[in-house]
Amino acid sequence: MKIKAKYPIFLALLLGSSTIIGYSIEELKNSNKTVNFSISDDNTKTADNKLITDIYTAEELSYLDKNPSYEDLINAVNNNSNIDNSYNIKDYLYKYIKDICSKKPNFDKAILKRNIELLKLNYYSAEQIKNITNNEFINAFFDPNEHSININNELKIEDYIYHEFSHMTRVLIEEKENGVVINIGFSIDKYGKAFEEEINQDFTNSIEYDYSTYKVENIYLLKEIINEEDLNDIYNNHNIYSLEEKLFEINDNIDPNYFINTSDTQNILLFDENINNDYDVDYELYKMYIDYFLSLKEIDYSNFVENYDKFYDILSSINTDNIIRDKLIFYLEDTYQKSLTKKM
Ligand SMILES: [Zn+2]
Repeated sequence: MKIKAKYPIFLALLLGSSTIIGYSIEELKNSNKTVNFSISDDNTKTADNKLITDIYTAEELSYLDKNPSYEDLINAVNNNSNIDNSYNIKDYLYKYIKDICSKKPNFDKAILKRNIELLKLNYYSAEQIKNITNNEFINAFFDPNEHSININNELKIEDYIYHEFSHMTRVLIEEKENGVVINIGFSIDKYGKAFEEEINQDFTNSIEYDYSTYKVENIYLLKEIINEEDLNDIYNNHNIYSLEEKLFEINDNIDPNYFINTSDTQNILLFDENINNDYDVDYELYKMYIDYFLSLKEIDYSNFVENYDKFYDILSSINTDNIIRDKLIFYLEDTYQKSLTKKM
């Protein structure tokens, strides 16, 4: 926890209090506070804690049913009268459940089941969804506060509905009658949103093909820096601050907060029609990916050598300006060569 000093000041307030009470859903929605940072284990496991931010505690306190079966998930769909079969959405959900159960048998689908129980579906025209989101590139979105999937019904729904189902496996916001607030998610407010979307796209691709256009190649690069098992654990069971910690362990010369913010900036620019050149951000961001990758050779040289070509190939295929890509490849090779000479 060396990087705790970089966390916003209110975290100290959160960590300092023994019980966390008085958060309503409205306050959570309107607040800029980072309320779903994982509080110390002892703290989250006290029964009088009003804010639950992780799946384990929610299951331990029986707010979620651990490891629901295929049948449990299908029953949840059939018992929710809000899920009709307009635009075949019910059929897509059945297909998704069948495939996630067969392809990811060990993945705990407790959050997915709860979101299915609460799910509402809203259909909009392209124009309406553009007005709601203030963005012409969004075709669908899952709103965890309303437990709704909101869809542009003018497009081929099958192309992007699975991405939204995947968000339902990971994010849960719910206020219980006894005042307990469940707020489980990976990004904190908008911090870490890019990684959340990119990992969600990669996760969805492993179940059904995801047609959304997030920069999933960033996750291919990240998997060469943090092994897949650790990355899955960080994404599924922790939050963006755990990713910060992991990156800080790998190379403490890079500010992980800056890396994550730059990644978020890249993601925002990707969907901003007013900006047609985000190459400076690309260069800044991928240089940090390279620095993280190169620092692995100090930790485990044999693994590093084995993965070098793979990292090189992924970097060569990133979608950016040709000049930027060439500069990055040069930076990778040159820095690596220099580090070898330095060693001898
Ligand atoms: Zn998404």
